[in-house]
Amino acid sequence: MLERHYIFPGVIELNVQARRRLGVNIYLIDGGSEYALIDVGFLDELPEVLELIRQMDFSLSACKMILATHADVDHTQGLARAREVLKCKVATHPKSVGPLQDGDEVMTYARIDAQNIHIPMPRCKVDLMIDEGDVMTIGDQTLEVWSTPGHTAGQLSFRRGPLLFSGDNIFRDGCVGVIDAHHGSNLVDFIASLRRIRDCDAEFLLPSHGPIFRKDNALLDATIARLESYTHMADFGTCVVDWPLLDQWEDELATGKLML
Ligand SMILES: [Zn+2]
Repeated sequence: MLERHYIFPGVIELNVQARRRLGVNIYLIDGGSEYALIDVGFLDELPEVLELIRQMDFSLSACKMILATHADVDHTQGLARAREVLKCKVATHPKSVGPLQDGDEVMTYARIDAQNIHIPMPRCKVDLMIDEGDVMTIGDQTLEVWSTPGHTAGQLSFRRGPLLFSGDNIFRDGCVGVIDAHHGSNLVDFIASLRRIRDCDAEFLLPSHGPIFRKDNALLDATIARLESYTHMADFGTCVVDWPLLDQWEDELATGKLML
């Protein structure tokens, strides 16, 4: 048996528990009589993830549900298999249901033809749709469901007292989950989600990638300002709100003078 390493009461993160990087962050919410997992990661890592859970003396049958933060392949490729082995429910936001149940390779980032990335994306049945304001009870633990769209339309976060399981909204270095129109990113929604995180009174952010960190509003402000600048930059293609250069150019064209 492996000694359980709780980061916070009732919270184990499996990369931290394994003391090495398995892939995305996988949180185990220990409610005493039962537990839940937030994400499961890639299929290749799943046997090790399940073994780790067993070694910590959790019964596989005590897993109440897997909460999928969003549908991206790196978080969900192992979901169908995990659901089968753990015989538990899979819960996610309504907007992640289509990509997961259809095994949508584009929406889940499993297929990027231009980079020759083709990752199998097994279809996974979703048992439960969860959305803003829902409260999930896992034994003696409760998680409040937050809809925090932006990275993807169905991106979820979960609040438990001073902790916010913040998904791909922001990481410790101020980076955010990838912004890509093909998988439903929306910059304006993203900024709103980040503002909500900044303005909430959670003390710790437990992201879906990389280290857990103390919520830092200066970091959030800098990230929000960066994303606000993106909304006016051609760099982000169809995700942008406007491109001021073209308005300027229109004015310049009307004068008939080249501004050289
Ligand atoms: Zn991610």
